[in-house]
Parts: sequence; structure tokens; C-alpha cells
Amino acid sequence: MKKQFAIIGLGRFGGSVTKELVEQGADVLAIDSDRTKADEFRDIATQVVIANATDEQVLRELDIPLYEHVVVAIGNDIEASILATLLLSEMGVKHICVKAETDHHEKVLKKIGAHRVLHPEREMGARLAHHLLSANIVDYIELSSQDTIIEAVATPSLIGQTIQDLNIRALYGCTIIAIRRQGRLMAAPQANEVIQAEDVLVLLGPKKAIYAFEKDFIAN
Ligand code: ATP
Repeated sequence: MKKQFAIIGLGRFGGSVTKELVEQGADVLAIDSDRTKADEFRDIATQVVIANATDEQVLRELDIPLYEHVVVAIGNDIEASILATLLLSEMGVKHICVKAETDHHEKVLKKIGAHRVLHPEREMGARLAHHLLSANIVDYIELSSQDTIIEAVATPSLIGQTIQDLNIRALYGCTIIAIRRQGRLMAAPQANEVIQAEDVLVLLGPKKAIYAFEKDFIAN
């Protein structure tokens, strides 16, 4: 059976999540309290409903508790975002993902049962900064406020060395979790793996450790 998704709030964020899910073949129930916004998605989402997501009865009528993933993408109206999240949590929705505006908003969302809280602008900003700092950083993903993953092209100072030679885990506290080589992903590479030109290293670790490694080996 296909996974069931409901997206609440069809602004730029909720709208792009909806479009991407539909493009990937998923069924999406799209909800917005604004008629004009909802109408924009009539030909895109599987089902579009004009509704206020802070109304418990409406959510129950839409069978929201049966949806596996619900995304709350209400931005400016923090009260509505919190109330909708609380209702979803009380209804026992399995995966609740919410867009947060501020750190305080995030704190409250986590307390009331959001499983995942996102700050899309902040995360995109951090990603862009890393791309700008070094052309060798292919991607940057924040896993939490502490941990991050980077994908970086192997620089001359890394090429020809084994993972053991580099001793990254002991020296920096981060780990090479995979190497992308010629389009193939080698997960959990062995300690004796020799880093080759054009390899892309996937590193996981605390931000501080990753930044220190980036500064010594990747930045250009
Ligand atoms: P983005 O940055 O993603 O464009 P935003 O952070 O500016 O969005 P808003 O535009 O405030 O956020 O909200 C996103 C959408 O959520 C809007 O289309 C709005 O109509 C809808 N929305 C706001 N409150 C509710 C609610 N209670 N129920 C359903 N939809 C809502």
C-alpha cells in the first residue's frame, strides 16, 4: 500500500513538499484555510481541502489519524501551528513533521509531540554558506543542532591515504561513513580503503569536529 501523506499549509514550503511527493508518485491530501491557495493545488495534489487545521472535528472528518505522515507547514501563525500539532499528537499520528519559525516555537513543538522540527530557511542558509566557503563541499545536511553530515570532494591532501592513515575519528571526532566513487556509494568503508582522486567523502559527526576537519582538509 502507498504511504499516505497530509500536508497542512500550502505556502512555499508546504507547496513544494506537496509537489515533490506527487511527482514521486505519492498520494497527498493538501489542506489550507485559504481558498486561493487551495485552488492552486487542485490539479496537483490527490485531494485538496479548504479547512482550518486547528479544528479537531475537521481533522477527524478527514481521517487524519489514518495518515502515516503529516506535515504542518503553517508559518506565520505560530499559535495555529502549535494547536494543529497538538491535535495531531493527541490523535496519535505516527510521524508529525513541523516547520518552525523560532527556537521557542521548536521547543514547544517538541514538547507537544512533533517528531521532526524543521527550520527550512536556516538550514538552506547553512548549506549555502558551506558551498560558498568551499567549492569542494558538495552537500551539507544538519541532522540536529549538534550533528551534521557533509559530502566533500577528496582534496590532494587526502588522496592516496587510507582511512586508517588519516585517523580522522581519533583526531577530529568525526567518521567517514561512506565514499561515493564513480557514481557508486560504498557504505562503511574499511580502514584500509585508499582515498582516490574524485572520491566524494561522506562524513558524520558533531559540527565542531566536522568544521575542524573541513578547515584542515577541505577548504580552498
Ligand atoms: P512559506 O514560507 O512556506 O511560504 P510562511 O512561513 O510564510 O510560508 P504562511 O504563509 O503563514 O507561512 O502559512 C502557510 C500556509 O498555511 C498559508 O497558505 C496559510 O493559508 C496556511 N494556513 C495558515 N493557518 C492555517 C490553518 N489554521 N489551517 C490551515 N492552513 C493554514
